[in-house]
Amino acid sequence: MFVEPRIDKFKADGKSVGWIEVVCGSMFSGKTEELIRRLNRALIARQAVEIFKPALDTRYDETNVVSHNDSYIRSTPVQFANDILLLAGDCDVVGIDEAQFFDPELVMVARTLANKGKRVILAGLDMDFKGEPFGPMPGLMGIAEFVTKVHAICMKCGGVASYSFRLNTSDEKVLLGEHDAYEARCRNCFYEDFKDDLTS
Ligand code: ZN
Repeated sequence: MFVEPRIDKFKADGKSVGWIEVVCGSMFSGKTEELIRRLNRALIARQAVEIFKPALDTRYDETNVVSHNDSYIRSTPVQFANDILLLAGDCDVVGIDEAQFFDPELVMVARTLANKGKRVILAGLDMDFKGEPFGPMPGLMGIAEFVTKVHAICMKCGGVASYSFRLNTSDEKVLLGEHDAYEARCRNCFYEDFKDDLTS
């Protein structure tokens, strides 16, 4: 489990110290649960926390970050990554869920927030259903101090799963995760059934 680093919140000159954490993995890997766990602990410590998610992700609830096991936390849906800079205000901690769906500017936004002394925690799918790096996630992982890759269990063989296998044939990238549309798969089981030229 990720243990929060011992970083002094303030430097000698009184300036607060920020950093970036990325929680990534496949579907059903518990990314959002892990994000919520970290944010709830910050809230318990009476830190000011702001949470954002892309406005397109309205699967379960307009204003809550919701994970599949019903734990939730209030969040603000935003259209563009840049909106987060305006809305974050003077909070201590910024949480961002479904980071993969944001525009590429999210990398710059995360860096700006961390440079201003905020703890920035982002959760998202690191790969799309084709097994390719997803949206701004590779850039975020590159500039983060801490990257935690969480795993699901392969629904075909029970191995360690890091891929999200799409069961239907739609080519639309922003198909949101109903349980019946995706399976968590290990590398072998993912490429075994994957219909694309990339597999050879
Ligand atoms: Zn497998």
